[in-house]
Amino acid sequence: MATVVKPATAPMMPRIAPREELNPFRIAQIQFDMAAEFLKLDPSLRQILRTPKRVLEVSVPTKMDNGQVKVLTGYRVQHNVARGPGKGGIRFHPNVTLDEVKALAAWMTWKTAVVNVPLGGAKGGVICDPKRMSKSELERMTRRYASEIVPIIGPDQDIPGPDMYTDAQTMAWIMDTYAMMVGHAAHGVVTGKPLSIGGSAGRQDATARGLVHVVEEACKVKKIPLRGASVAIQGFGNVGAAAARIFAEKKAKIVAIADTRGGVINPRGIDPIKALRYKERSGTVVGMPGASRISNDDLLTMKCDILVPAAVEGVITLHNADQIKARIVAEAANGPTTPHADEVLARRGITVLPDILVNAGGVTVSYFEWVQNQQGLVWDLEEVNARLNRTMSRAFQEMLEAMRKHHVPARAGAMILAVGRVAEATLVRGLFP
Ligand code: NAD
Repeated sequence: MATVVKPATAPMMPRIAPREELNPFRIAQIQFDMAAEFLKLDPSLRQILRTPKRVLEVSVPTKMDNGQVKVLTGYRVQHNVARGPGKGGIRFHPNVTLDEVKALAAWMTWKTAVVNVPLGGAKGGVICDPKRMSKSELERMTRRYASEIVPIIGPDQDIPGPDMYTDAQTMAWIMDTYAMMVGHAAHGVVTGKPLSIGGSAGRQDATARGLVHVVEEACKVKKIPLRGASVAIQGFGNVGAAAARIFAEKKAKIVAIADTRGGVINPRGIDPIKALRYKERSGTVVGMPGASRISNDDLLTMKCDILVPAAVEGVITLHNADQIKARIVAEAANGPTTPHADEVLARRGITVLPDILVNAGGVTVSYFEWVQNQQGLVWDLEEVNARLNRTMSRAFQEMLEAMRKHHVPARAGAMILAVGRVAEATLVRGLFP
């Protein structure tokens, strides 16, 4: 795919101060501006699309187990709902900022548009340290946060799902809080729920499964056999661990994995099932038998065919972009590559499969979950996975067409596709009032 990049027409990087490199919302806007330029969008339409529709900040007073009350801050941002109700996860993390939530909400708008599901983009988060909170503290915080955002969420309005440090249990608490407050059942208010209350088969693995499917498609284009390809994964959580398992099922070789505490490497291959069992026991992959230690920094720049950043944003920057040795970077995390790094990787012929396509398997199956809830249907795993693969293949092909038409790298291709769809929906609806 790198061969379709013609420098003469590749997107031009605006001059930005190095400080801005890591502000996620600024990054999201730069990515948008480049697509808008290609599409020659009208300036007022650009202004509408680059600004979040609604930003809600809430205070979340939470009683801790020792009787003290902590007042936490939470956000819900709806970036764009022109194509359907807002959709996006909720993150519990000490580093959550409003700019991060705004960026993630914008990426959700482009993500739902790339896979062409009739949803918009939203995101939420609470600034907290979930690793230091008990389950009952987490439940009280979640319910209070949910009660504060109830006025703007709902199956036809905005549908939260899980993100970092939130899971099916978190979604069950939000669904219950919502149902108690509105006075009726509303399964479609959240996705990523437990199966017993309307969750979808296949949601757990959906992001990883979609990722591996897109990588498989890209490997065909780049003529890299996935069988035997070496894969390094940063982040061994919901997405990273499942991706490792699915890659291994396809006979790719997992050569390195890492989490917050560091990583492990074995050029002959790491068994992802054993790594997961080890992590469940000891809280980290570091120290697992049969593998040597590697730092997170070294994992990113090690020699491998496929690099999967599956942890946090801003890990591939100007500082390490010229040392990346992977042939394909598959962005499982949201926003792991900064715009300047993107330029360096494109110049070096490294294919960056962008987050808005690569990790869209999660939102695709979330959409399937919402459809099932709204219609009272239950699809089996086979049906969900077949629909997921079809959706990801179609989106990949459409991205490829945009890349070839505009002579741009994958992220610009995906953004042009997505922004074009949202712009069209916005224009045809017209401006209210
Ligand atoms: P998770 O909390 O289950 O896992 C995160 C993993 O990253 C953990 O192993 C953690 O130890 C590691 N990690 C965190 N900070 C790190 C750091 N600074 N350096 C190295 N490792 C670090 O989260 P997840 O659900 O797997 O999500 C991972 C990423 O994928 C996030 O960026 C998320 O937004 C994105 N994503 C997730 C989904 C989904 O369905 N879960 C969907 C789309 C995108």
